[in-house]
Amino acid sequence: MFAEVAPCLPVTRTFIYEISGSVELPARVTIPFGKREVQGFVVGLRNEAPPGLTVRPVTEVLDSETLVRPDVLELCRWIARYYMAPLGEVLKGALPPAITRKHLDSFDSAPLRPEIVRSPVELTPDQQRAFDAIAKSDGFRTILLHGVTGSGKTEIYLRAVEHVRRQGKTALILAPEIGLTPQLRTRFAERFGPALAMLHSALTRKQRIEEWIRIYRGLAPIVIGTRSALFAPLANIGVIIVDEEHESSYKQDDMPRYHARDSAIVRAQKAGAVVVLGSATPSMESFRNAELGRYECVRLPERVEKRPLPAVEIVNMREEYARVGKQTVFSQRLIGAIEERLGRGEQTIILLNRRGYSAFLLCRRCGYSFECRDCSVSMTYHQSIRRLLCHYCGLTRKPGSECPECSSEYLHYVGEGTEQVESHLNGMFPQARVSRIDRDTMRKVRDFDRALGDLRSGKTDIVVGTQMIAKGHDFPGVTLVGVLAADAALSLPDFRAAERTFQLLTQVAGRSGRGDTPGEVVIQSYFPDHYTFRLVATHRFEEFYAREVHFRRTMFYPPFTVLAGIMVLESSRERAAGLAREVGDFLDGIRDRSIRILGPAPAPLEKLNRTYRHQLLIKSASREPLRRALTALQTHLSERKVSPTKVLIDVDPISLL
Ligand code: ADP
Ligand code: ZN
Ligand code: ZN
Repeated sequence: MFAEVAPCLPVTRTFIYEISGSVELPARVTIPFGKREVQGFVVGLRNEAPPGLTVRPVTEVLDSETLVRPDVLELCRWIARYYMAPLGEVLKGALPPAITRKHLDSFDSAPLRPEIVRSPVELTPDQQRAFDAIAKSDGFRTILLHGVTGSGKTEIYLRAVEHVRRQGKTALILAPEIGLTPQLRTRFAERFGPALAMLHSALTRKQRIEEWIRIYRGLAPIVIGTRSALFAPLANIGVIIVDEEHESSYKQDDMPRYHARDSAIVRAQKAGAVVVLGSATPSMESFRNAELGRYECVRLPERVEKRPLPAVEIVNMREEYARVGKQTVFSQRLIGAIEERLGRGEQTIILLNRRGYSAFLLCRRCGYSFECRDCSVSMTYHQSIRRLLCHYCGLTRKPGSECPECSSEYLHYVGEGTEQVESHLNGMFPQARVSRIDRDTMRKVRDFDRALGDLRSGKTDIVVGTQMIAKGHDFPGVTLVGVLAADAALSLPDFRAAERTFQLLTQVAGRSGRGDTPGEVVIQSYFPDHYTFRLVATHRFEEFYAREVHFRRTMFYPPFTVLAGIMVLESSRERAAGLAREVGDFLDGIRDRSIRILGPAPAPLEKLNRTYRHQLLIKSASREPLRRALTALQTHLSERKVSPTKVLIDVDPISLL
């Protein structure tokens, strides 16, 4: 017998090996590959080898019975094809690391009878309508659940899961990040108890294997997890829920570069399941699909129990500067609002999407700024370590007291980060209990759980944090949200800058007034008239969508074109430019009029970890020409023996940095 093997390496083709005995597809094997031994998956079997080929035998068959369910194999094949990714790598990512058949065979646990507790609340009429849309589905269907923050989307998820469980089917719930899973788990555990399994990156290897096996054995028919839980070995899926479907963390930014939301829809289609995409700020892509009738859209336009959406005010920081006469971090308006909250024993969240103490260190005499030696970005000053830190590669350096360029002493710290804001707050409100939530203070999932718990239970008065605090959490005592430097994200060189800003501000505003007291939001901006701020303030998603759609249509951006990014990585600027030019010339040479090539050009972040990065962008009116061009490029590069790790292809990129 001969096996077609997809190696777990960054190569997109398969290779033929001799194999004895029968195996189930896709069985894991080890194979000799060049001078190495690597793992791979048997993805096809045949009786004859192509003539004229010297075929080596497979070294070892790791599982003759496969651990990959047939529908997961199909999903992996789709991902490999759609995202131009190596099938072996996709399959590897679908299994917990280091799992073996032995784990499965030695696992014993009495089957549990999952019990379902009926929901204690009555659905609102809007919720009922949303639930009916899900429950009436018989077979595959995608539902966009567009509900404002606090409108009871999670309750709908719970009911949808209950509904499919009563039919004996299973459920998969995806959350955009690990920080949101404990909260979901608590709410699901109350209803479904032991039927629940969790899959995310904070589990130990052993825990992950145990959870995976419980799912595989049918002991945990409800799975909550992050991106890679997409591959959970559930049989008979009835519903897949993608919470906060607009979040960019659903896109893996490493090989294989798949989008978990879009792939979840494919999995559901193959399984005949319903998909629920939930968000207060749906992505342009999903909203467009709903508009075109590909998805059914159900809306929850109001918060439950008639709680009002928070009142949002935009403070003009240019006027503030003119009045106060110097650059200030907090406007008078925001300071007053915080004082009021402290007086009433209510809580405040301050969002600043920049960690560290100062964004950068600048010489006022010659303009020198401290950049990372290995990346083309400014280093951020962190007071806690008294050093400059590169947020991309982690390199640190001592700031010194004079400019390395001109030896002047006029070094100036510019742009405050969360660390500095925390110390300002402590200075202004010594009686308040202030805490900070960002990647520096939240090293472990447990830290984050504790900090969120303290906020929920009222042990904290003010929390300052990065976008980590913006998402999905429910804090009934928070009645004020302040946003500092709201403009920062708008000026990023990315066509999604406005969409991202709108989403972030709406999300963080949604943390306010979720309890019995109405909420308030104060956004500080130097461009208060920008439509993104105006429409966030008036909670008008549809109008924002209409404006964005116009921009995307005229500029040929998604959802009106399909995009692929090509990133060329080399050890020097010249080599990067040279290889990028070769890629560009090859693509131009295809002469397909339905695709447009932009670039090559240095990436906005040209140097990262000592590697130079140049990029190209392909725009196409439809998928097929894009696929053809990329496939031709991959073949060309492999013939030219260019390592696939030097030319990264990203289909449907979500970030162009
Ligand atoms: P979302 O997920 O849309 O932000 P949640 O599902 O968290 O909203 O609901 C917000 C709050 O309202 C929660 O505390 C939830 O328990 C409560 N809630 C949800 N649905 C109802 C309902 N039908 N009746 C009463 N309270 C509800
Ligand atoms: Zn200088
Ligand atoms: Zn760096």
